[in-house]
Amino acid sequence: MLKISKADYDLIRWEAKRSYPHECCGILLGNVVEGHRLVTMTLTCENMRVDSPADRFSIHPEQVIAALKLARSRGESIIGFYHSHPDHSPHYSSTDLAEAHWFDCSYVITSVDQGMPMSTASYVLIGSEEEKNFHAESIEVVANERRLIYAT
Ligand SMILES: [Zn+2]
Repeated sequence: MLKISKADYDLIRWEAKRSYPHECCGILLGNVVEGHRLVTMTLTCENMRVDSPADRFSIHPEQVIAALKLARSRGESIIGFYHSHPDHSPHYSSTDLAEAHWFDCSYVITSVDQGMPMSTASYVLIGSEEEKNFHAESIEVVANERRLIYAT
């Protein structure tokens, strides 16, 4: 299961809408607790696939490295990635599977119909490079964490 705050979930869907008719993409930071991935931060990234941005996405390796460093500094890890499917279902494509390499991470896909974000689905990458697959997982949208600010 993927647990994500309402704010991060809304951001992913906003990005899908904002990027239409191109695909959006980004990275999810967080923790794995009892087998569930908990999103603590959503990083929006540029889609590097200028040749075919409407049905392909690519995150620059430097952005992935920066995300890894940020995660490490927070005592967290990269737990997933998200992208959108303009005018297509939220089901993963054969290209999505072929280009996925982060095992036990969530791959979140939001379908966008005529510019409106529709369904958001998530898949966990399992197996190994020789034999990998996506398993559908549920998404639990949780109330935004209350952040208390104490005056010093
Ligand atoms: Zn896709």
